[in-house]
Amino acid sequence: MTPPTDLTCREMVELVNDYLEGGLAAGERARFEAHLSVCDPCTTYLAQVRETIRLAGRLTEESVPSEVRDELLRAFRSWKDA
Ligand SMILES: [Zn+2]
Repeated sequence: MTPPTDLTCREMVELVNDYLEGGLAAGERARFEAHLSVCDPCTTYLAQVRETIRLAGRLTEESVPSEVRDELLRAFRSWKDA
């Protein structure tokens, strides 16, 4: 049986744009939200993406600066190692 929070943080980062665009299937969306409910770094990441979109006025491939992304992925790594 697969737990509802089986997405990795890296997968979450990849899915954020689809999530915000409403492009996820219901099952994926449920898994995404289940992960969010237990993962602070991903919650923070989603908030940053939302803020970036608000400032940019739209969602684009470049919505999330790669440095923000790298920073988050580093944070995920240290968080998992802790
Ligand atoms: Zn996460």
